[in-house]
Amino acid sequence: MPVTTPAAPSSAPGAALPQDFDALLREDSEIAAVLLGELHRQSSTLQLTAAENFTSPAVLAALGSPLANKYAEGYPGARHHGGCEQADAAERIACRRATSLFGAEHANVQAHSGSSAVLAAYAALLRPGDTVLAMGLPYGGHLTHGSPANFSGRWFEFVGYGVDSESGLIDYEQVRALARAHRPKAIVSGSISYPRHPDYELFREIADEVGAYLIADSAHPMGLIAGGAAPSPVPYADVVCATTHKVLRGPRGGMILCGAELAERIDRAVFPFTQGGAQMHTVAAKAVAFGEAATPAFTMYAHRVVAHARVLAAGLEAEGFEVTTGGTDTHLIVADPAPLGVDGPTARARLAVAGLVLDTCALPYGDARGIRLGTAAVTTQGMDDADMARLAVLFGTAVREENDIRAEVRELAEEHPPYPG
Ligand SMILES: *Cc1c(COP(=O)(O)O)cnc(C)c1O
Repeated sequence: MPVTTPAAPSSAPGAALPQDFDALLREDSEIAAVLLGELHRQSSTLQLTAAENFTSPAVLAALGSPLANKYAEGYPGARHHGGCEQADAAERIACRRATSLFGAEHANVQAHSGSSAVLAAYAALLRPGDTVLAMGLPYGGHLTHGSPANFSGRWFEFVGYGVDSESGLIDYEQVRALARAHRPKAIVSGSISYPRHPDYELFREIADEVGAYLIADSAHPMGLIAGGAAPSPVPYADVVCATTHKVLRGPRGGMILCGAELAERIDRAVFPFTQGGAQMHTVAAKAVAFGEAATPAFTMYAHRVVAHARVLAAGLEAEGFEVTTGGTDTHLIVADPAPLGVDGPTARARLAVAGLVLDTCALPYGDARGIRLGTAAVTTQGMDDADMARLAVLFGTAVREENDIRAEVRELAEEHPPYPG
């Protein structure tokens, strides 16, 4: 990344700094400089990484709270440590808010991350060696969907479904045929780059036909689901795994939803099977985020995120990018920059020089990589449709290397501080 300035930002986004930041500055100037440098990077470049967002100052306050000191192995009312009254209260509130927000019977909010949530779901439902049908990694499946470098690929037999190379859409007839041929113990919906809504009803039907569990790995769309801007897998899936960061805008962490009959198995699969003590400051921050996500303001936010992604996707097509599936229903856009004469990694590098931060990802066809981006963070910053149209033009300019647009991107970022002071 080109931005290395460790100096404090001029338009001090003070709300992002904990009250006692001065104490850190006095005690450890080396790490304080890193944190200020990151604050500067986040407020002078644009964060288009599809999985990123800006949590509220209230979430950051919970993360920096004394609950960070508390050990609370176990579950509320049944802890292996003393002094858990407040930790119990935080977790009960988080679970109550999660079940109410998503209309689920049971919530586990202890999973340390999205990957830990998926590991626990597999641990609750499967035995090593079982067959699992999930989106293949070359099409946008997550590491936990059978990568040989991950526990999932090591301990389970994964069969991968794909997307149609023309339409970029999941080929449900292929999913059904693979399910019939391999009789998996579980089918996983969810992806790191699929810009459309999975058909949960159809996934359920296929799972029922072969007697498989349906696990929805909904880390990306969970915030859209909370805000009513995407369909919910909760009525269809046996287990729903998600992250609480990404569009949901909470702290980095995982969560699991399920019906009452699987509640105990899921809880035991998180603790003590795959984790020790929960991070209670994160659990409290998850509660704060669930509270925020239940507000009308968040519903508006979620719909705006999708509207912005559609404007940006259309703008990118107008600039010559090939947008997979022809657009998006979510926060997520996958685009092939090949018509502009470069591949994904080159486009990403040119965009990074311009201060536009995003990832590369696999495309539905061929071996070349495209770019993957999302509108969750820039929407939190208060950008509007016109800003999205302007961003699309900036993308074209940067990737074609027509002009140095770094100053313009910096200006756009500074007009919309993530943490107005
Ligand atoms: C982000 C994501 C995860 C993993 O989340 P981590 O918190 O990074 O472990 C798992 N599955 C899917 C589909 C994701 O998008």
